[in-house]
Amino acid sequence: MSNVKVRFAPSPTGNLHVGNLRTALVNFLFARRHGGHFMLRIDDTDTDRSTAAFEESIRADLVWMGMQWDSEDRQSARLERYDAALQQLVADGRAYACYETPEELALKRKAQLSAGRPPVYDRAALNLTDERKAAFESEGRRPHWRFLLDNSEVAWTDMVRGDVSYHMSSLSDPVLFREDGRVIYTMASVVDDIDYAITHIIRGEDHVTNSAAQIQLFEALGATAPVMGHVALLAGADGEGLSKRLGSLSIGQLREDGTEAAALASLLARIGTSDPVVPCADMTTIIEGFDLSRFGRATAKFDPAELAQVNMRVIQQLGFAAVADRLAALDVGGGEAFWLAVRDNLEAVSEAEYWWQVCTAPLKPVIEAAEVTDAAAELLPAGDLGDVWGDWTKSVGAATGARGRGLFMPIRLALTGQARGPEIAPLLPFIGRERILARLRGETG
Ligand code: GLU
Repeated sequence: MSNVKVRFAPSPTGNLHVGNLRTALVNFLFARRHGGHFMLRIDDTDTDRSTAAFEESIRADLVWMGMQWDSEDRQSARLERYDAALQQLVADGRAYACYETPEELALKRKAQLSAGRPPVYDRAALNLTDERKAAFESEGRRPHWRFLLDNSEVAWTDMVRGDVSYHMSSLSDPVLFREDGRVIYTMASVVDDIDYAITHIIRGEDHVTNSAAQIQLFEALGATAPVMGHVALLAGADGEGLSKRLGSLSIGQLREDGTEAAALASLLARIGTSDPVVPCADMTTIIEGFDLSRFGRATAKFDPAELAQVNMRVIQQLGFAAVADRLAALDVGGGEAFWLAVRDNLEAVSEAEYWWQVCTAPLKPVIEAAEVTDAAAELLPAGDLGDVWGDWTKSVGAATGARGRGLFMPIRLALTGQARGPEIAPLLPFIGRERILARLRGETG
């Protein structure tokens, strides 16, 4: 057992979308690849926007993906810890009370920008006298608390981005607690990562600036920052940011559209890396093939058309046991033989129902070449339909002179009503002799 411990820390303020599911997956795969620990941390300090329903849906998505977590906690259960950490920072002179209202801060920023200066907080509150603070308090103002950044360069070796450095003079001292007493993520996350001994923080590159400030916060709290890795964000197939539609596409929606968890995992584990996407039907193979060092800085392209391709190739690998329950729920019969007959032609497992209907429910045939289908009706061998195809079509060909497409397509059109679909041979037993004969004769059957 290694000491690797990572966490996925969703805020339950919305459903997971592909971008944050990818962050979860990369953490999960990293933990499993290194025999480590994968923690689920619910970042629910934003009580206005967090809901139990979103949390449930996030958990359901993780379970569906096969990403079982080893432990969990929630930030709303740890508020006392964050208060204690703030007291420690205040005592050490690393956190200070500020009384500006949002309007006052906005005015400051505006003035800085129009003077051509970066809108960095001016630390005016550091100079407040005790009398001034008391005056604010008696006006009914409550302080918000900022972390006093050390005005130096923060550098780290990022698992994905390599050497990164940030000069803190370009950053405002981050707010740790709001005036209403609520902790801000920047603070809560660091306290949690310390208390839970997280060894690696892997998240999206939108957190790079946060990380720079948080590294100082780890140190101010007497800890060493975990190893950091910031994976590039997802872009659409055209390299632009994810479109609004894709960006908000929920995992529930993808699931309803027939996406297999393994297909999504196969794709998300590889986009943004220099390795090819390999459709894998089981997580173990995906774990074995995972290597965070293969992730690059270039934006990772998420292409729904590629997902559809990977999905089809994953479905082709699914054994009957993996789908039996779903087929039963759709009233698809035929057991393993039917599944094996159709799985190569499905964009979604649920489409098996469509082919089951084609085989077993009345259908209006399409007669393209009556001489071929009439001969086929006449020459259908007696006995088990499971292995008649070769001899049967040979004899129909001999009797009519039809070959290739001219032989097979009329039979396909008559038996299924359409030009494309699974191989006909293994479907014959499911259609059954009576229907086969009726359809070949042009009768609805
Ligand atoms: N709750 C944060 C988010 O969803 C977590 C970021 C982190 O991994 O630290 O962005």
